[in-house]
Amino acid sequence: REVVLEARDVTKHFTVRGSKGSAIVRAVEGIDLELHRGEIVAMVGESGSGKTTVARLLSLYYPTTGGEILLEGKPVSHVTGRKALKYYGQVQLLFQDPFASLNALKPIRHILGRALKIHGKARGAKQVEERIHELLTRVNLTPPEQYIDKYPHELSGGQRQRIVIARALAVEPRVMLGDEPISMLDVSIRLDVLNLLKKLRDEEGLALLYITHDIASARYIADRINVMYAGQMVEGGSSEEVIHDPQHPYTRLLLDSSPDPGRGLEGDQQSLFDEVGDLGEPPSLITPPKGCRFNPRCPFAMDICNEKEPEKVEVSPGHWAKCWLHQEGRADLLKQRNIQF
Ligand code: SF4
Repeated sequence: REVVLEARDVTKHFTVRGSKGSAIVRAVEGIDLELHRGEIVAMVGESGSGKTTVARLLSLYYPTTGGEILLEGKPVSHVTGRKALKYYGQVQLLFQDPFASLNALKPIRHILGRALKIHGKARGAKQVEERIHELLTRVNLTPPEQYIDKYPHELSGGQRQRIVIARALAVEPRVMLGDEPISMLDVSIRLDVLNLLKKLRDEEGLALLYITHDIASARYIADRINVMYAGQMVEGGSSEEVIHDPQHPYTRLLLDSSPDPGRGLEGDQQSLFDEVGDLGEPPSLITPPKGCRFNPRCPFAMDICNEKEPEKVEVSPGHWAKCWLHQEGRADLLKQRNIQF
């Protein structure tokens, strides 16, 4: 399938200044990512893992420190002016809070009409009106007449997020970057919004990056899952494989702490994390641990984990993990301990 958006070895460092001088925050390092047409890819991790920084880098909100971002094969990391505007039209960012990202003083007709006019997607009052009706229908706000003259505060959280999605669609994007797009919605309507995003993938071939801390929702919506820890991607593969056959201890931790009732531990298999008690906090990105960044929290940490960073290892076609257990035959350790990994 056609690759629409790609990140190659993308890095972002920030310099922070304090009373004791300046320090470098290694927010994101070595990110490789491909988004295909008609595909939803999830990026899962705790808060502070760098997920939002990745979304902001891909939307060109932040410049990269290293690496390259490509849209349809063309480098875009340093585009400016008209080329940057064109990029913003093709790659749309959806924010967490649908209320804060809509102008509370304007009705839906104005909010959607403005997006259409700014990007030259409709001309003249009649065409703009027709396109607004079409957009509302595409996001299942029907009949459109019922919504077009309302203000954001007159809509529910789920309806507002649909307006945010409709406004993004007005620009006819190739890609949407959803940064926790359902986390501020009522639990009862989250599924509706996820189903709408799936529909846009299936019917319109949209490519979507779905950023979340919730691996259960990633499993529901995504074709592929990437797991982020402390600014790096540590595992990636098809959703089924990552969920049912995780190959990185951190992914296993996420799954064990997920409320998804469909997945539990069976028989005498023990949880990797039963024996370590308090798992502590994610590490500082100013002074990240040497070697594997997960080593202070990992029950399998070996000497080499504290010294050298592991490479990516492909454990099955398209499924990889960045962990020393998969190098030099160390994954056998897990089998010996009868631990499902
Ligand atoms: Fe644990 Fe070592 Fe694998 Fe890191 S490389 S996840 S510390 S076993």
